[in-house]
Amino acid sequence: FFLLLPHVSTLLLICVTFFMCLLGIGVGMLVREYGKLSNLDKFYFSFPGEVLMRMLKLIILPLIISSMITGVAALDSSVSGKIGLRAVIYYFCTTVIAVILGIVLVVTIKPGVPQSANEIDRVGSTPEVSTVDAMLDLIRVTREELCNSLKSVNKTQEYKIVGMYSDGINVLGLIVFCLVFGMVIGKMGEKGQVLVDFFNALNEATMRIVQIIMWYMPIGIVFLIAGKIIEVEDWEIFRKLGLYMATVLSGLAIHSTIILPLIYLIIVRKNPFRFAMGMAQALLTALMISSSSATLPVTFRCAEEKNFIDKRITRFVLPVGATINMDGTALYEAVAAVFIAQLNDLELDIGQIVTISVTATAASIGAAGVPQAGLVTMVIVLSAVGLPAEDVTLIIAVDWLLDRFRTMVNVLGDAFGTGIVEKLSKKELEQMDVTSEVNIVNPF
Ligand code: ASP
Repeated sequence: FFLLLPHVSTLLLICVTFFMCLLGIGVGMLVREYGKLSNLDKFYFSFPGEVLMRMLKLIILPLIISSMITGVAALDSSVSGKIGLRAVIYYFCTTVIAVILGIVLVVTIKPGVPQSANEIDRVGSTPEVSTVDAMLDLIRVTREELCNSLKSVNKTQEYKIVGMYSDGINVLGLIVFCLVFGMVIGKMGEKGQVLVDFFNALNEATMRIVQIIMWYMPIGIVFLIAGKIIEVEDWEIFRKLGLYMATVLSGLAIHSTIILPLIYLIIVRKNPFRFAMGMAQALLTALMISSSSATLPVTFRCAEEKNFIDKRITRFVLPVGATINMDGTALYEAVAAVFIAQLNDLELDIGQIVTISVTATAASIGAAGVPQAGLVTMVIVLSAVGLPAEDVTLIIAVDWLLDRFRTMVNVLGDAFGTGIVEKLSKKELEQMDVTSEVNIVNPF
């Protein structure tokens, strides 16, 4: 009880969000059953959810600009270089670990290998099929079965995804510009101060707007979820892709509850679960809206106000992380590529597995922090091992659900990153504090 006491507000929030989510599912199911909505009605019905997404997206631009510029301007360039390097090493290592974990799971569980192939493997060893095997065979899927089911799935989904992807802002370009701009005004001293103050005020104002959006969040979530439920055309596909989904979800669960917390514990030597509890609101937001960029405002709030991470670190590590550090996406891409290879009866050799690992890492870095971007960059991974790019359609029907969970892991990875980079940069940050104090006491 005493352990949970400091987290009462967080627990309350988790309960409210889950309640809203269940309400969304319930409302969605009811409307689906009795509503008989036309496409236009569906659009109006989903509108309050769309408003939430748009408000969050609207705030990303001023938030990234103001936080990056003030974050970099507050650091001296040698310090920002060191912090940047540590962050990039952390991003890279955790992404590679996620990919390896995904590959190990999918190669062991073999969700795409049809029953007959399994039997060939077993010839001469144990002829009887165990109960577990029999149960797994119930949910194993063959490529033909899946293609048949997909005939009923709405193909316009593909175009929507591509549209969404190309609509996005070039966040990476923006980040580079803000880095350079921040460094320059940081070096300008007195003259640049007016700009630093301006961007600090912009950052403050943006965070206040975020606070207002948070009040609207519960309503938006209900309609966002309900809107999705009425859109789903084929529930049967979930049973067919059950083992594939279970592989992705168990990988995400292991990465987020064992691997990332362990890294945090070893480096920071603090309770990782308490840290994760502090991030609860951001994680739930990611789960509901499946976009790490749009979750960014909430991630900032949680990291700075609940976990008390130094702003000089969050302003630097979070926007970059939301754009290039996607452990969940990397794991998912690796699993999905091997799954599709299994469906195509392609025996992957070690070279192809390495190729999948490398391209999945690259594809996760290249994916934008928007819903289902990972599905688009999957094409790179598939083409690298000679699989037909259009085979992404085989997993499209369940992607909206997996996307939510992988986005949550992406956000958690960024959040742990702030704690780890802060710990590793403690010396430099303290030194800067001392220097600025000396400068205030004796400016000459
Ligand atoms: N939706 C994910 C994110 O925003 C990206 C993806 O994997 O599709 O982090």
